[in-house]
This record gives sequence, structure tokens and C-alpha cells, in this order.
Amino acid sequence: MVMDSSYKILTISEIREEAPGVKTYSFDEDAENKISYLAGQYVTLVRQTAAGEARRSYSITSSPVLQEPLTIGVKRIQNGIFSRQLIDYAQPGDQVYTTGAAGLFTLPLVTTAYQHILFCAAGSGITPIYSLLKTILHAHPHLSVTLLYSNHSPEETIFKKNLDLLVQQFPEQLRIEFLFSNNANLSRARLHKALVHTYLHQCSAG
Ligand SMILES: Cc1cc2nc3c(=O)[nH]c(=O)nc-3n(C[C@H](O)[C@H](O)[C@H](O)COP(=O)(O)OP(=O)(O)OC[C@H]3O[C@@H](n4cnc5c(N)ncnc54)[C@H](O)[C@@H]3O)c2cc1C
Repeated sequence: MVMDSSYKILTISEIREEAPGVKTYSFDEDAENKISYLAGQYVTLVRQTAAGEARRSYSITSSPVLQEPLTIGVKRIQNGIFSRQLIDYAQPGDQVYTTGAAGLFTLPLVTTAYQHILFCAAGSGITPIYSLLKTILHAHPHLSVTLLYSNHSPEETIFKKNLDLLVQQFPEQLRIEFLFSNNANLSRARLHKALVHTYLHQCSAG
């Protein structure tokens, strides 16, 4: 397999199951292959397949302001080339190639003009928001955060335990509304316009 020498090489250090079919991959980076990134960005991984080079992007779930290894969260897609290979076969010690980090879903460079941020996420869409949340809570204490997070059930909610811990750790700064589509109370079953309006109103009221 011949790979472009400009790619960086990451070694998988740990794999953790977050929810059915969803795993977090932590990476070891040596100085030469260090990835510099902003919260909310993604890395693009590259793999040679029989049909040529395949590239897929995965949001970074670690926070650049914490002393934690680079991590991504991957959801297994049925018949997917890349996600199935990672979820079904990748092991600690395996190496992956990346073009590095990119993406514009990041915090404003200066946050002092802002007081409250409202995030809406569903399913694996939580991955970049998890990094942004941790970054805000640890590095921007003047910002309050509300997260509306929609999933099928608590068991299938990615990072549920860690998010609950963040609420305990930052009770004044963070509020999370979990929405489960198996909820008998339909007004709290899915993300919908009226609910988003309600929370937007609450956020702008302080
Ligand atoms: C900015 C960005 C960030 C992302 N972040 C994340 C993340 O944090 N976590 C995450 O899990 N994913 C993320 N993704 C999605 C990820 O990049 C991949 O798209 C995803 O993992 C699926 O890739 P795959 O190779 O497994 O599936 P693919 O092989 O690309 O297949 C995807 C689907 O298309 C179908 N398909 C493929 N070829 C055909 C065809 N010819 N005809 C009909 N159907 C076909 C497959 O059956 C499958 O259901 C992100 C994407 C972007 C752009």
C-alpha cells in the first residue's frame, strides 16, 4: 500500500464502545504527527481500497484545552466501507492516515460578546458538539450552554454518562434537555420547532 507521505500517521491507543454500533477511538500522536485543531473540527482519514483511495471525515470529540488524547467518535453504517472497517476490525496499535484537521463549526475567535449558546444535536451529530461543550465549560466560564439532544432511547444516547457528569460538574453553566423518541410525552419526544423556540427564548432571556 503506497500512501502520500504528507499524510500524518495516528496510532489507535484505545477503543471504547459508547452506544450500540458507536465507538470512540483515542490516538497516540508523536511530535511529527501532532494534529493541531480547534473544538468542533474534524479529521479526514484516508485508506487505500481496491477501488482506490477512500477518505472519510470524523468529528473530533476531545477538547484542545484539556490534557486529553485526540479522539473521534464513529458510528457503524450498514454497508459502509470505512465505518464498518473501523468498528468491526480496528484494534489498539493499528495505524490510520489523516490529512489533518479542518472545519468551520468552531467557536467565535472572541466570545466575550456572547452570553449563552444553544446547541441542537441528534444521534451521532453530538460528536463535534461534545468537544465544543467541554471547551466552553473549561475555557469560557462566562458562557452558559444549553444542549437539546435527541435520540431514540437513553441506551442509544452517545456520551450520556459523560454528559450527565458534566451537568453535575457545571450545574450553573450547563443545561441539557434529552429528548427520547420512545417517550410517551410527545412534546418531549423529538426536536421540533416550538421546542427550539422555547429554548431560544429562555436563552436570550438570560
Ligand atoms: C464534516 C463531517 C464530519 C463527520 N463526522 C462524523 C462523526 O463524527 N462520526 C461519524 O460516524 N460519521 C461522521 N461523518 C460521516 C462519515 O464521514 C462517513 O460518511 C460515514 O462514516 C459513512 O462512511 P462509510 O465509508 O462507512 O460509508 P459509505 O461506504 O460511504 O456508505 C454510506 C452509505 O451509502 C450507501 N452506498 C454506498 N455506495 C452506494 C451506491 N453506489 N449506491 C447506493 N448506496 C450506496 C452505503 O450502503 C451506506 O449505507 C462526518 C462527515 C462529515 C462530512
